[in-house]
Amino acid sequence: MGNKNSKTENGKIPELRGKNKKFYDALMLSRSKFEQQVEFHSSEALTNNANAGEAGMSTHMADLGSDNARHDMELSMITNEGDALELIDEATERLLGGSYGICLDCSVKISEDRLEAKPYARFCIKCKSIRENNGGFNPEHE
Ligand SMILES: [Zn+2]
Repeated sequence: MGNKNSKTENGKIPELRGKNKKFYDALMLSRSKFEQQVEFHSSEALTNNANAGEAGMSTHMADLGSDNARHDMELSMITNEGDALELIDEATERLLGGSYGICLDCSVKISEDRLEAKPYARFCIKCKSIRENNGGFNPEHE
């Protein structure tokens, strides 16, 4: 009685309680979603690439130009999803390190609503919009 269930999985996941546990779960959920997307787009892009120049899989040979455009778009989507995975990993590290949910620019707490919508957010709404208006940079925080 009063004994905690101290079963750990290789000590990999430290004890997270309450909100931290909730955000950890949210991060893991987004991670698996993005991983599935990366896998999906990777295999599709590879398939298209492998069949370039072959009549078999290409439905519209005259459409080669737009096929290439679609291919480029898929590759850039892979990049975006790859970035998201990095953000999720960073956020997970911050969560485990105890600095999760703090804006990297101005150090204010990011609102819970925002974290629920985007658990890997790095900036508060204010700093994010400053960055969006400045091509990704925040002039106040290099
Ligand atoms: Zn901020």
